[in-house]
Amino acid sequence: MDKKLSFLSKILEVFVLCFLTVIIFLIVKAFIPSGDPGEANIGSFDSVPFNEGWMLETGSNTSPVTLPLKTDHKPGTVITIRNTLPGHISDGMTLMFRTSIEDIYIYIDGKLRESYTSTGFKRMPYHLPSAYVVTGLNNTDAGRSIEVRLTVKDKGVINEIRLSNGNNAWFKIIRDNIALTVIASIVSILGLITTALYLFFYKRAAVGKSVFYLGLLMTDMGLWSLSESRLRQIIFERPSLSTYFAYFSMELAGVLVCMFLNEVQAGKNHKRYLLLEALIALQIVVNVLLALTGVAELYQTLTFSHIWFIIGIILIIYNIITDIVRKQTGDYLFVLAGMAVFVLFVILELANFYINTFRSFGAYICTGLIFLLVFTLIQETDKIYNLRLEKSLSDAANEAKSAFLASMSHEIRTPINAVLGMNELILMESRDPDITEYAGNIETAGKSLMDIINDILDLSKIESGKLSIINSDYDPAFVINDACTMIEKRALEKGLSFNIHVDKELPSGLRGDGKRLRQILVNLLTNAVKYTEKGHVILTVNLIKTEGSKAYLNISVKDTGIGIRPEDHSKLFESFTRLDDPKTGNIEGTGLGLSIVSRLLDMMGSELELESIYGVGSDFYFNLTQEISDGIPIDDYEKHIALKRSEKKTDEYIYAPDIRILVIDDRPLNLAVVRGFLKRSGMTIDGASSGEEGIRLIRDNQYDMVFFDHMMPGPDGIETYKKCLNEKILSHDFPAVMMTANVTEGAGTEYLEAGFCDYISKPFSLDELTQILVKHLPKDKISFKSGDLEPSTFREETDLVDFSEGLKACMNDRSIYRTVIDEFLKEQNDVPLKEAYETKDRGKYRVAVHSLKAGAKYIGAKRLHDLAYDCEAALKRGDVDFVETNHLRLLGLYEDTVTVLKCNKDRQS
Ligand code: ADP
Repeated sequence: MDKKLSFLSKILEVFVLCFLTVIIFLIVKAFIPSGDPGEANIGSFDSVPFNEGWMLETGSNTSPVTLPLKTDHKPGTVITIRNTLPGHISDGMTLMFRTSIEDIYIYIDGKLRESYTSTGFKRMPYHLPSAYVVTGLNNTDAGRSIEVRLTVKDKGVINEIRLSNGNNAWFKIIRDNIALTVIASIVSILGLITTALYLFFYKRAAVGKSVFYLGLLMTDMGLWSLSESRLRQIIFERPSLSTYFAYFSMELAGVLVCMFLNEVQAGKNHKRYLLLEALIALQIVVNVLLALTGVAELYQTLTFSHIWFIIGIILIIYNIITDIVRKQTGDYLFVLAGMAVFVLFVILELANFYINTFRSFGAYICTGLIFLLVFTLIQETDKIYNLRLEKSLSDAANEAKSAFLASMSHEIRTPINAVLGMNELILMESRDPDITEYAGNIETAGKSLMDIINDILDLSKIESGKLSIINSDYDPAFVINDACTMIEKRALEKGLSFNIHVDKELPSGLRGDGKRLRQILVNLLTNAVKYTEKGHVILTVNLIKTEGSKAYLNISVKDTGIGIRPEDHSKLFESFTRLDDPKTGNIEGTGLGLSIVSRLLDMMGSELELESIYGVGSDFYFNLTQEISDGIPIDDYEKHIALKRSEKKTDEYIYAPDIRILVIDDRPLNLAVVRGFLKRSGMTIDGASSGEEGIRLIRDNQYDMVFFDHMMPGPDGIETYKKCLNEKILSHDFPAVMMTANVTEGAGTEYLEAGFCDYISKPFSLDELTQILVKHLPKDKISFKSGDLEPSTFREETDLVDFSEGLKACMNDRSIYRTVIDEFLKEQNDVPLKEAYETKDRGKYRVAVHSLKAGAKYIGAKRLHDLAYDCEAALKRGDVDFVETNHLRLLGLYEDTVTVLKCNKDRQS
């Protein structure tokens, strides 16, 4: 069935194609005159040429001529042509004669019957438009003499004369000229549509301005063509005006072509085109002046415009060839093809004008323009398509960049967290002022590195829409205080005065994103201090009003620094952009701060504003609306802080010996940090290095709290927690805490939604960790103690084992270090060494000495390592003697090292 159907549809297709061919053939044939007298109603539309039998008289010369005719008489010469009218003339017949801007008088039987003359023609006395002159006849005119007297004006052309019934002669003229008129109308309408569409769409679709100029050019040339049309007597009520706009539109076309090409060639030849445009404009002005003063009429100076046309064509061809030679046409290949076609048509048009005297003009140019439009639109479509493609590629690249930045900064954050955590332990435990100072420096540098990474991460999160504002209750005074204490020290070190004005009416509790507000303040204050050399920095927090549960704040950070030039204001909020200002040359920065501030404010429904006088100072300010959570005014800001502080207990640490917690984290360092922080708490702290191990431990033990690291190889924190819930080894109300290096505040909600009771961002401080513990552990199992810390157990250093080196080789991870030591002690590395020595097996000896070398390095046994290293190197070069001499020494060193390790282990346990 299907086969039959498809066969039938094939047959129908062939039939349709054949039939269409026949129709086209018939249409073409219908345009070709047949000479068959039986064709249609030709008679009723008939007109006959009356071109034969004329005698041309000039002065005393008479000669027989056939019309139409081009004479070589000079303008101003009066010529006469005579003839005898046919014998059959009926009433209402007309004689139609086309003038070519000359005065004309038609006499029948010696009497003036019709005339067409500039006498009394007001607008421009010397100028007549070429037009058809229709002379009425009657039956008495049959066989009478006819005389046409012309004053040659321009080309010395005598056009054909037609005889017809009534106005029938028009039919032929219409048929001869209708195609051109239609093309000209189409071109002007297309031009208008193109221009309008460009104006409507250009911003949205990024269409090039070349389309605009082409639209104008088409409108202009279409109108020119209409004004040149032989039908203008029918189209226009005042055809004489059309000769003016014919002239002007032709001149304007030159300017528009230049503008169009300048756009197409992306301004490469702007100067040349501008020069040509200016010359054409100048020429128009001069010609108009000449016409107005009666010196020369516009049509007489038309030759000048043709000169510009030819110069223009040469220039265009030159520019295009230069581009081709320089291989710079890639951007406009399609337009180039269109231009080639267009220029060809322009040349045809010019040739038609000069060679073919009796034709009407514009058809070639109009056709060329339609081609040019098609090619230009293809070019623009191609460009828009490529732009879209590029944009989608760059969007993808941008997304990839954001994702890369996010994961990179995440990866970098994790080890820095550990470094900062370990460093905090050093700061807590060390009594040595030098060490404390170094650790202090590590803390400063580490934190500023962390700030930069956080900025990058923030920005990439904001850009990918992953950062959200998290509202919670906060004390604005503390947000201000936190931000200021971080900056004030820097200001004072620079000798700046640092002032804080906080409105006494400011509510002591607000609801909003306090952390982000602090970040905004820190960024603005940091900049203020950074870009101010002397004077002051003032932070002002004003309460504009309260309305219901809302507080309207105005916050301003003012400085007396270098200021910002007005032209730079708009560049401030671009990410990674720093101002090209000599004054900021030696000040470090990433150009991220303000763009983060402005985006955060945007997310909070506010906007960062700036008033700045270059060299005097800047004032960055914004309005912020927050919910009020505690309406009591803070009154005196300093006192408020002091009061709240005194309410907090200090110098205490959590003590909870009945508590057992589990930390699941693939990084042993993080476990070490938690253990270090909670060393005094008496808690039992277990560690699991993977989700699976964690699940096992949870199954086997009773924990009071479990910390899950988010990112882990194998099941991640969320998956591990979900498994625990599924296996029912943890209940939904069990305090499971997400421990994450993912700083995004938005991620917090994700964890809470997943069922975690809380989350803590790494690096966390002891305070933050304590807060979490206090919040979620049973109150009766917790108490607080105050007191000093015990000294570290990993202090000793002997000349056999350098523990700090060993710890370093184990990434400062004590548990790894301990395991390495255990393994080293278990392995009895001397056995294979002794065996190989006794059997004189060099290969085995080399293997044994190599593994001893590696193990020694990890435990920090430098002397043992060095000797093992030398022995291995000696064997490599075949120096057996060296091994012979040092074998016993090596065994001795090994034994001593083992002893030291064992002693130390005993002391630890
Ligand atoms: P960064 O300070 O890291 O360069 P920012 O985004 O914070 O980046 O600031 C962008 C630029 O704005 C700075 O490089 C600086 O030129 C200018 N700028 C910011 N704050 C101030 C200020 N308070 N006074 C003068 N210039 C400032």
